Amino acid sequence: MSDTDPRPRPGPKGFSTRAIEAASRVPRLEQMPTSVPIYQTATFASADTDELGRVASDGRSGFAYSRISNPTTTALGSAYAEIAGGEAGVALASGMAAIHAALASLVRTGDRIVAPLAIYGSTRAQLLRTFGGFGVEVAIVDMTDLDAVATALAAAPTRVLYAETIANPTTFVADHTALADLAHRHGATYVVDNTFASPYVCRPLELGADLVVHSATKFLDGQGRVLGGAVCGPKKLTEEIFKYLRTAGPTLSAFNAWVLLKGLETLKIRIDAQSANALRLATWLEAHPQVARVFYPGLPSHPQYELAQRQQQGGGAIVSFEVKGAREQAWQVVDHCRLLSITANLGDTKTTITHPASTTHGRITPEARAAAGISEGLLRIAVGLEAVEDLQADLERGLSLI
Ligand SMILES: *Cc1c(COP(=O)(O)O)cnc(C)c1O
Repeated sequence: MSDTDPRPRPGPKGFSTRAIEAASRVPRLEQMPTSVPIYQTATFASADTDELGRVASDGRSGFAYSRISNPTTTALGSAYAEIAGGEAGVALASGMAAIHAALASLVRTGDRIVAPLAIYGSTRAQLLRTFGGFGVEVAIVDMTDLDAVATALAAAPTRVLYAETIANPTTFVADHTALADLAHRHGATYVVDNTFASPYVCRPLELGADLVVHSATKFLDGQGRVLGGAVCGPKKLTEEIFKYLRTAGPTLSAFNAWVLLKGLETLKIRIDAQSANALRLATWLEAHPQVARVFYPGLPSHPQYELAQRQQQGGGAIVSFEVKGAREQAWQVVDHCRLLSITANLGDTKTTITHPASTTHGRITPEARAAAGISEGLLRIAVGLEAVEDLQADLERGLSLI
């Protein structure tokens, strides 16, 4: 172990000077750590003004300030890109920050975005209010109706076609090959939110998507500990996101990046187990007398079962179902749960249950909800790693009262 100070300096005299110097000496290791270190520092010192000038103006060739880049967050961006099949990746503070970064790097006032009816609630608000407020036009279509998408793209020049691999909460599956082709034929960039699938279940970049965004908060962490987001795609597009990050500042902390790197290591084994649990639960729900309908891409009854078989590795961990009844009956099921967590989060080891019409999609009009396929009796379960029998017993308590 030796000290890494690049500049020899005279021995300091004052106590505070000596304390600061002693406490800031970074060890240089001969042996590499087996997990990426948490570079918990705001700044990085350069050898001279010339070097600082270079790294400050182009953060990719070195490190100057952790808002711009930090070795731990950079490692996460690269690791994410590598497993998602992208040329380059950028880690950000949250999924919403990743979506904002991707879209703000592409659209300007007067541009147009075509987005799905069935979409994450906060994304809908970001599109309509934040981007809408800056004069971006947003056209909403049913992303599973390719003719409707083609008509929307033909109606006016469109900068971005935006889709979610598995829509929230209806689990409708976007046909990436077809949508990428439609977008490109109309000169649009195809941006996909792949959060519900994870890069293990689906890799939209391999199917023609231009840019993929991700809420790392969900399956990448997988244990409900931290917030994070990521974007990946060709360098040409991620460089613009990097510039955005530098000025807008939704930087991921080094600690959160480290947690997410650890999460990535176990992504496959968790999703395989969660998908297997989800399939068993969905099959049980489909046969339940108090359940009207189940939406799960791994069930043959799903309207896009074939597509999901083609483009996904398994059905994923999200199961939605309609109880026989309306809000009162749906709430009854949720409120009788003792094991399932009543929360809108998902992708955790713990199974969560939510009533989309009163939570994630509670701020949109009943008409918009109905159009997006979100009925009052719809419940969404994000299946975790518990024993399926325990999940069934927990749901049965409320279902048996209907
Ligand atoms: C959670 C989620 C987001 C937002 O991610 P945050 O990390 O909470 O900001 C975006 N899209 C989808 C599909 C999500 O599930």
